[in-house]
Amino acid sequence: MVSRVIPVDPFDLVIFGGTGDLARRKILPALFRRFSDGQMPEEARIIGAARTEQDGAAWAEWVHKALKEFLPKEECDKALIKAFLERLDYLPIDAMGEGGWKELKGKMRDGVTQAFYFSVGPSLFGALAERLHAHGIAREDARIVVEKPFGRDLASARALNATLAEHFNETQIYRIDHYLGKETVQNLMAIRFGNVLFEPLWNAQYVDHVQITVAEEVGVDGRGAYYDKSGAMRDMVQNHLMQLLCLTAMEPPNRFEPDAVRDEKLKVIRALDPVAPADIVRGQYVGKQSYLEDVEDPSSRTESYIAMKLHVSNWRWNGTPFYLRTGKCMKARGSEIVIHFKDTPHSIFEEDAGNKANVLSIRLQPNEGIDLRVTIKEPGPGGMRLVDVPLDMSFADALGPDVGHVPDAYERLIMDVIRGNQTLFMRGDEVEAAWAWTDPIIEGWKARGEKPVPYETGSSGPEEALMLMHRDGRRWRDIV
Ligand code: NAD
Repeated sequence: MVSRVIPVDPFDLVIFGGTGDLARRKILPALFRRFSDGQMPEEARIIGAARTEQDGAAWAEWVHKALKEFLPKEECDKALIKAFLERLDYLPIDAMGEGGWKELKGKMRDGVTQAFYFSVGPSLFGALAERLHAHGIAREDARIVVEKPFGRDLASARALNATLAEHFNETQIYRIDHYLGKETVQNLMAIRFGNVLFEPLWNAQYVDHVQITVAEEVGVDGRGAYYDKSGAMRDMVQNHLMQLLCLTAMEPPNRFEPDAVRDEKLKVIRALDPVAPADIVRGQYVGKQSYLEDVEDPSSRTESYIAMKLHVSNWRWNGTPFYLRTGKCMKARGSEIVIHFKDTPHSIFEEDAGNKANVLSIRLQPNEGIDLRVTIKEPGPGGMRLVDVPLDMSFADALGPDVGHVPDAYERLIMDVIRGNQTLFMRGDEVEAAWAWTDPIIEGWKARGEKPVPYETGSSGPEEALMLMHRDGRRWRDIV
């Protein structure tokens, strides 16, 4: 396959929190990959900023270690790494303090794209925006990248939006949700809007229901203190699952452009019905690994699992439920969006022929790809017996080894920031609408004193979540 890498314009990218976990595991490896691929021009520069007092050489050494730890050995070409490290610089800056800003201003160059990545705790997002402005560092065309979580409820998200808006225009703010940068998620849009085959069927007349699953094998994994204040609803549903739901349910935007896409997503969030308590299951993992032992509060009521049935209240989806679930310590790691089409309206075959409904699944991880199950005649004698077979389009299989690696979401998203393309980032009103829908659900749990139900570590989730489907005559897809 011919490489279609188009170099971006020269840039200064400042990573606040440049010594943190996200920088180490995701941001810097992603930047290195874009560099290796020839997308980053000679003049690009990456400046780490954090509280640690160290010089550029010490940070470069730390980055070097991170690349070796988080990239496959075959990608760690010595000459390339050396050339990449030459593009790095570092400044000790305390987001809450006054030191270092003048030096940072001195380092910023005219005539190159300016971007500031806020990879620090959310309590510092506002302070960074204020100081970048107060010290006259950010130009009017500068971009800021804001990590998750974006608020913990509607009030805090509004307050943060208001603070950012004092210093930056909406067109400068890139609220990251890395699910949107996943190759398959973009493929969902290609499938829906690049083919004539699916869109006519993409509605309540033909879709029986939709399942969206994000299952993790790991537990809270050392993030217990943070996670226990958040839970699956805030940490996963309000942002990632909501974004996947929006892209699945939205009307076709008239162009693949930031506001066109984001307007349509916003309409989906606003069309969500409130969820009845009976349509939500909250769980906590127990057994060989136990949530209550992984967090500090032994009586915590925070959920590590959630399953829910949603209705998008509009003409397209009237009567088609969306089932969402996400959890930690599940039997396998797997994320997918599955469209279950309805049965044929009338079967012309014998009752025992085994007619199956079509299913389209879009796998986000692992093995990103798309699978469509279609019904065919089982080959051979013995009359008409129907089987469903996969039309499996694993990217690697379909496009061959030359397609290279499937880019990590951060690769795509950081380059979009540099290119100035906000399509795959959340707009302020979208985030607020998602919180406006989430808040009453969380408040309801509190008011009713609800406790999550236990589920076995390594299982598919609580029995109650299976029942959520069974009572509608449906079942969750196996997490494999
Ligand atoms: P971390 O605690 O590992 O790193 C935080 C970074 O911020 C460090 O570089 C630290 O030196 C710096 N920092 C802390 N206080 C500072 C201050 N006052 N001034 C300047 N720098 C300061 O955190 P992380 O895991 O890298 O997360 C960073 C952000 O990314 C958070 O908002 C987090 O929610 C988000 N995030 C992280 C992950 C992940 O996998 N780590 C995933 C998604 C989102």
